[in-house]
Amino acid sequence: MTVAVLTDLHANLAALDAVLEALGPVGAVWVLGDIVGYGPDPDAVVRRLRARGAVAVRGNHDAAVTGVIGTDDFNPVAREAAHWTARTISAATRAWLHDLPERLEIGEMTLVHGSPRDPVWEYVTDARIAEANLPAFTTRHALVGHTHLPRIFRAEPDRVSSQVPVDGTVLALDERRCILNPGGVGQPRDMDPRACAMLLDPATGRAEWRRIAYPVGETQARMREAGLPGSLIDRLAADW
Ligand code: ZN
Repeated sequence: MTVAVLTDLHANLAALDAVLEALGPVGAVWVLGDIVGYGPDPDAVVRRLRARGAVAVRGNHDAAVTGVIGTDDFNPVAREAAHWTARTISAATRAWLHDLPERLEIGEMTLVHGSPRDPVWEYVTDARIAEANLPAFTTRHALVGHTHLPRIFRAEPDRVSSQVPVDGTVLALDERRCILNPGGVGQPRDMDPRACAMLLDPATGRAEWRRIAYPVGETQARMREAGLPGSLIDRLAADW
């Protein structure tokens, strides 16, 4: 069975639809949080995920729009978008987001948004932080999001290595423990506007990273209609 591993969708329906189409038929969809926030289509994104039977964990944005955490720690534009989302979403979307767990274990994989030791807030940005998180999960591997940056961290005998996967990068998982980040669907932060996704075959241990172009202008137009902050609209196209 092939699994689509997605994170940081951020209510970007055009990106999600392009990703689901590009990945083709998959046996399951696993989502690592930040399903909403920033973007213009929170209800439609949640409906799409529910229709696909996705399993998901909660991100900091999902927690904020459902009142599980406050928005004091958000930057001003993230807070403004979170409040817009909280005002906009349907009762069904709110209930589904509210009930998401912080952590899931599926076979050899732990799914969290931030990091295994701090699923809501910690960013796994480098090998040192990845190493410090290895004792915080009991499955062999962990899947994380939150940074919006595709990464492979792997425990070698003497150190934790760090790799930046690109479109088409394939990793063969083995006994070495890994923390893997697919990169963000709805708001990449590595100066490549294409959406990120990962295909995973848990049975064979094959993981493949993909970059998928989508109509960024469509999402930007929807954000303008919604009156979302201009800096959030601009950054979707950032390629400098
Ligand atoms: Zn995010």
